[in-house]
This record gives sequence, structure tokens and C-alpha cells, in this order.
Amino acid sequence: MAQSYDDRKIIKAYRNLAREVVKREDLYRMMDQAALREQTQHWLNKFKDREMTERDQIYIFTLVREAARRVVGLEAVMVQLIGAFVLGDGKIAEMKTGEGKTLVSLFVMYIEVLRGNKVHLVTANEYLAKRDREEIGQVLEYLGLSVGLNVSGLEKEQKQAIYKADVIYGTASEFGFDYLRDNMVRQMDDKVQTGLDFVLIDEADSILIDEARTPLLISDHKEEDLTLYGVANELVQTMLKDDYEVEEKKRLVWLHDAGIEKAERFWKIDSLYAEENQPLHRITMLLLRAHFLMQKDRDYVVLDGEVLIIDPHTGRALPGRRFNDGLHQAIEAKEDVEVREESRTLATITVQNYFRMYKKLAGMTGTAKTEEEEFRHIYNMDVVVIPTHLRVNREDNADEVFYTKEQKGQAIIYEVSWRYERGQPILIGTSSIKSNEWVSELLTKAGIPHQVLNAKNHAQEAEIIARAGKKGMVTLATNMAGRGTDIKLDKGVYKLGGLAVIGTERHESRRIDLQLMGRSGRRGDPGFSKFILSLDDELIDHFDNKRWEKYVRRTQQKYNFDDKPVGSRKVHQLILDAQKRLESANYDIRKDLLSYDEVIDIQRKKVYEERDRLLSMEKLGAFSERILREVAEHVFAPSQEQDVHFERMAELLGGTKFPFSFDQVTLMSKREAVEALIDWHHKQRAKFPADTIHHIEKEVYLNLLDQMWVVHLDQMVQLREGIHLRAYGQQDPLVMYQKEGAELFNKFQDRYHFYFAHALLELDPEGLVVG
Ligand code: ADP
Ligand code: MG
Repeated sequence: MAQSYDDRKIIKAYRNLAREVVKREDLYRMMDQAALREQTQHWLNKFKDREMTERDQIYIFTLVREAARRVVGLEAVMVQLIGAFVLGDGKIAEMKTGEGKTLVSLFVMYIEVLRGNKVHLVTANEYLAKRDREEIGQVLEYLGLSVGLNVSGLEKEQKQAIYKADVIYGTASEFGFDYLRDNMVRQMDDKVQTGLDFVLIDEADSILIDEARTPLLISDHKEEDLTLYGVANELVQTMLKDDYEVEEKKRLVWLHDAGIEKAERFWKIDSLYAEENQPLHRITMLLLRAHFLMQKDRDYVVLDGEVLIIDPHTGRALPGRRFNDGLHQAIEAKEDVEVREESRTLATITVQNYFRMYKKLAGMTGTAKTEEEEFRHIYNMDVVVIPTHLRVNREDNADEVFYTKEQKGQAIIYEVSWRYERGQPILIGTSSIKSNEWVSELLTKAGIPHQVLNAKNHAQEAEIIARAGKKGMVTLATNMAGRGTDIKLDKGVYKLGGLAVIGTERHESRRIDLQLMGRSGRRGDPGFSKFILSLDDELIDHFDNKRWEKYVRRTQQKYNFDDKPVGSRKVHQLILDAQKRLESANYDIRKDLLSYDEVIDIQRKKVYEERDRLLSMEKLGAFSERILREVAEHVFAPSQEQDVHFERMAELLGGTKFPFSFDQVTLMSKREAVEALIDWHHKQRAKFPADTIHHIEKEVYLNLLDQMWVVHLDQMVQLREGIHLRAYGQQDPLVMYQKEGAELFNKFQDRYHFYFAHALLELDPEGLVVG
């Protein structure tokens, strides 16, 4: 992507600073390690009480550059230093694949630690976290900083030790899950994270945009009759075309009258929409969605009897993640594999909201500029395109578009075979597992051996990708093509034109196409790229079908299925338009997800703050009393009807030994009643040993808060699910969700306060067993 005017200005300024760094390269050369570490200490102290100047940064970068040269034998070049300055400003640096972003990260991490920040370095997967921690981590350690590797499945103590480090490597999910788990602990000491200061995200677009479509979830199991899914599956299998309607674009499916009647007969009920039949209605709709909206090998794969979600952007399976609220179970029933228990959300956060909690954020990736608006809007980060170290030497060709899929297949094979025969390595990109398999079949028929990289074997993706630059190697990959792993060329491959990248579909976003092309032509290597498409391709067909169909019909009539690619320029424009519109549709989906999550985000922050406040409290006495008073004032308020009044009192005082009867209470003023209750509570409290009561109160409060928060979260999910069905006419579902979500939250707060008050009053020193 092209640089903007602003980018050029920024780069010019930083180029001057970078020059100063390179000019001083002998400055630290004679210092031994001990002297460099001393320098680190010196700076750490110095920047405790004063800001870092540009001049400071020049010296710091000079020292880091020297350390990297010594420890890993890499001498950072100008553009890498420029990239590091950009990251230091909390921006996204777009640097092409192979430009050495791993080394760039070193500079920023070191400088942020000197600025007093704890650094989290986020990578696309654990493999990369380990790799980069080893390589770059050792330079940081050489300079006297501590480095940790945060992987999944560790014990609390191990995690705590890791989080003590200055710099911590890990994946977005692992950091996010640690955050969520930290907010479920019962004691402050059990937390592992130590604040969210600075985070540097590698492959930032993949993490902040693509992965951001599925929120992080911690869940347990809900009690539910799982056999119902199988039964509903039988029903949906009998549904005919006239029974239902599907609107693919809006991802909606609904029943016609005929379908409703069929369902009512099947379930033997009078009305599918009656309140008491809500569970059957829900499960029927779920199975309809599973059958008519969810597509195998596009939305999910079935692997060893398990349904796995496919990330629509990367084509990767996402083990451990499940579609929400029964949809996953419905798909399991449809695919006739074991239906697993419905999970209940215990804690959840979107990737966006997790990262927005950091004080400072920066990111690097090969492809970001196309999504600049999104980075700005959601993360408040600008994208700066950093020039490449050497001129890009890749030959990018215009798309070839064929009339039919068959012709496209032939063209792909033609393009691959002649290059293969010369020994040129070829990387073929597909956007789904289905088309990956299709191309694989074509290659096999043509007798071209090839290695396959798709969601079904991504464990070895790094190895496969690393081999892709060998002479005569043909690699077939879904579009993620092993992000973060470098494709190095065999010696003999340079004169054959380097790595040839052949795209077989335009992807949902230009960014992913660019990412694929970027696998070739790294660091000034020769390279080649071309997309071979057809009028049958899904992208366009899916999105803009009216205009598209008309065009295809006319073109096909006119040219009568020529074997040559479509000559018209219009086809390229149509494809680009479709792609751009898809990009913005997907952006809208993410924005939508975020606006809905913002409602929960506010609530989550309140609850987590409340938890933290409680966890850090030495004594609860005043806190408990405040809640008790609030609840009592509400319950004893005279402005209510007698029976409601009594009912509330019964609920609050039932099972307690409060010495006044209801009749006595009603004769008191509200104030008198409240004071009587508080007085009595004080007396009861005083009968407990101080430590014990404190401990009990805390436990009771946390239990209630956590349990009821989970119930509340579940209600929010249900509300979210149902809101689209209920949003008629002019009502904006988001506004309804915000309003009703806020009401639910108020109720939730009232309820756990009430139960807490009740539990306090129930405490009975006589019944207490100490021990
Ligand atoms: P990126 O993350 O930008 O795709 P990597 O950090 O994986 O790139 O680096 C790609 C390759 O370039 C690695 O093999 C790395 O060792 C090498 N490299 C990085 N910086 C330099 C440098 N300044 N001089 C020489 N090689 C470098
Ligand atoms: Mg990288």
C-alpha cells in the first residue's frame, strides 16, 4: 500500500534520527557486557523522574543495535530503526514480510522498559512466542532485562513468576484469558497479571482485526437435555423449500407458515411461539441455522468427530472455540457427531476491549494500511508505511479471469506445471479448505507433487512454510500461509525468478491477498505473483450477485466460453468493488460486535472494580453496613402496598432471628426500622471473632457477586440473541439492547445486594462452628 503524505513526513524525521544512530555505531563497541548493563541501570534510574528526549533515544537505540549485533549477529538497518521509532509512538508500522520486524521489536521493548513500562509482546501463536523469546529475548537479557514466556497450561506460581519479568511474550488469547481468570480469583494474591502497560502486537492485523471476530470466553457446562438437538435435527431434515426462507447476506433464516405447522405437528404442540414452548422453538431455529446458514468446510470443519470453527479470514481451525449458545451443538447434531454440553459463559471479553485497556499499544505487520480507518477508529492507532530496505523485486501481474471454474483450473495447472518443470518453487493460495482440496486434486491428476497447508494440519505449518522456498517445491496453502515464518530461497532459485505466488481466489479482504503476495520477494529477492480467477468464484457471486449475474450472462453469451481469459476491464472493476464492499461489510460486523460488547464492557469493569475493591479490603464492616442500610431503606420504605411491603420484609428477614415482628416494624418510622435492624446486626456481628466475621462476609459477598454475575452474563447473551427477533419497525436493536441491558444490570446489582444483606442477617453466632 502506498504511503500517505503524513507517512512521508514522519519517515523523513525519523530517518534523520536513525542516521544519528548509525553514525554512532562505534560508541559502545568497546564496552563489555557489564558496562552495557550498567548503562541500562543508569537509564532506568534516570527516566524515573524525567522524560526521555530524542537525544536519549538516539543513544539508547545505538546501544541496543550494538547488543543485537553482538548477540544475534544482526545489524539493524535504517528502515528497521525508523520502524522502531514509529512503534515507540504507539502506532502501527506496516513493514513487509521479511523486513526483520522481530529485530525491530527489540528496540521498542527495551525503550519501553526504560520508560518504566512492563512490556507484553503478542505473537500470532505460541510457536512464534517461543521462537522470538529465544532469539530476541537473549539480547534483552544480555542487557540486563528479564524476559518471560507466557504459555498456556501453567500453574499459578509459574505464571506469577513469568509476569514479574520486564518483558513477557505470549499470544493474545493467553494474555486475555489471564486477565479474565484474574478476575475470578478469591484472593488478591492469586492474581498473576501485574497491570497492562505497554503491548506490542506482531501480525497486528491478524490479531486486532481477524481474530477480533470471536471473543474470548471462559465457560463451564450448563445442564441441558442434549438429545433434543438430535430430535430437532430429524425435524429439520424433513423441511422442504416452502417451509423456510434463508437470507444469506443477513445471516437470517426463518419459518413460513407451512414450516411452523410442520414443527408444531412434530413437537405435538399448539403453538411454537407460546412461552412454554420457547425451548423447542429455540432448538428448532438453531437446527435451521445449522443446516441452512452454516456450511461445512467454509464455516467449520469436522475433524476426528469434532466440529471446529474455521476462522473466515485465515482458513484456520480454531480448536477450543465454540459457536455460542447452542449453535455448536446444533451443528454437531447436523453432522451426526457427539453433541457436547452447552457451555455457560463465566467470563468473556472481546479482543478489542482487552487490548484497549493497555496504557499504550503498538503493532507491526506486513499489511495494515487498507484497514487504517479501523485501527484509528477502534484502537486509536495510525498506520505508517515503512519503506522496504531494498526495492521490492517481485513481478506482480494483473488478474486473469476465466469464464468457468474448469478453465480456471486448467490455467492454474498450466501456470504451475511449466514453472515446476524448471524447478521454481511455487506457493498456491486458496481461501477455503474446499478449494484447497480442489486444487490439490488437480495437481495430483497432473502429476505434480505438492505439500498442503490448511486448517487440518496447521501444527506443522511453520516447517511446511519454511520449506516452501526450496527448488521444485510446490506448496498449497490456505491464505494464512504460516504467518510469521520466513520463506527463504534456495541458492539456485534466484535465477529461476524466486518464489512464484499464485492466488486462486480473491479473498474477502485485499489485505489477505497482499499478505499472500508478500510471501514472495522478501528483502529484494526476485519473485512473481498472479491471481487466476473465474466468473464462478464465490467472492463475487456471493456478494453482488444481481449485477454480477447480469454481467456473467452477457459476457458468456458474447464470448461463448472462450478458452482465453475475459478481456474486458470491467470484470476487474467488479471484482475490486465486490471486495471493497465485503471489507466494509465485515468491518461493520466487527463494529457491531464491539458496540454490543461495549454494553457488557462497562458492566464488566464495574464488577471487576468492585471485586478488586473487596479483595483488597482489610475489614468489611463499614462496607457491609452500607449495603445493609441501602437494602433496608428500600425494604422499609413506606411508599408501597402493604402486601408487597410484607413480602419484601419476609424475604429479607425470613430465617433470621431479628427480634421484632412485622407488625412492630410497621409501627416504626422507616428510620427507626432501619436503625433497629442495623443495631441488631451490630450486636450479632460482635459475637463473632473479628477475623472470622471478616472472612465469612468476604466469602459470602464474592460468592454472590460471582454467581449472580454469571447468571447476568447469560441473560445478556440471551437478550443479545433475542433482540434481532424482537426488533421491529423503527427500533434500533442496539438501542434496545443498551436500554434493557442497563435495566438487567441494575436488577442484578439490586439482587446481589439484597441477597448479601439477607445473608448477613442470617449469620447466627450460636450456629457457628469454629475450626
Ligand atoms: P518479518 O517478521 O518482518 O517478516 P523476520 O523478523 O522474521 O521478518 O526476519 C526475516 C529474516 O531477516 C530473518 O531471517 C532475520 O534473521 C533476517 N534479518 C532481520 N534483520 C536483519 C538485518 N538487519 N540484517 C540481516 N538480516 C536480517
Ligand atoms: Mg514476523
